[in-house]
Amino acid sequence: MDVVGLFVRDAVCGSVVAVCETFGLFFNEDKMKTTKQTYRVLEDVIKERKYQDKKWGEQNHYPFKYNNILGEEFGEACKAANEAYDWKNGYWSKSLKHYRKELIQVAAVAVAIVECLDRGKWCK
Ligand SMILES: [Mg+2]
Repeated sequence: MDVVGLFVRDAVCGSVVAVCETFGLFFNEDKMKTTKQTYRVLEDVIKERKYQDKKWGEQNHYPFKYNNILGEEFGEACKAANEAYDWKNGYWSKSLKHYRKELIQVAAVAVAIVECLDRGKWCK
C-alpha cells in the first residue's frame, strides 16, 4: 500500500483540497495552513509506520505489551526534550529535532496499536 498525497483544485467549488488517497482524508482550503502542516506530520508518521513494518513485520501484541512499547517511546520523547533544555540557564540549548523524531515514533506506535485492534486477531 503506497501513500499518495497531493493537492488539487476542486473543479466544482474551485477550492484547493489536499487529498491523502490512502486514508481518504480531505481538507478544505479554509484550513490549509493547518492542513499542510498536519499533512507533513502525518506523512512522517506513515513513513515511520512503514519502517516499523519493514523492521518487525505485522505485530499483534496484547494491549499491555503495546502500552509498554508506547510508554518506552513516550519516555524517549521526554528524555529528548529534557536533554535539549538548558535547565541551569532556562533556554533551549539544542535543536528539538530529536524530540520531534521521538514524538513521530510515539504517534506511529499509537497507529500500530489501533491497526492491531482493527485486525482483531486476539480479541475474537
Ligand atoms: Mg524512540
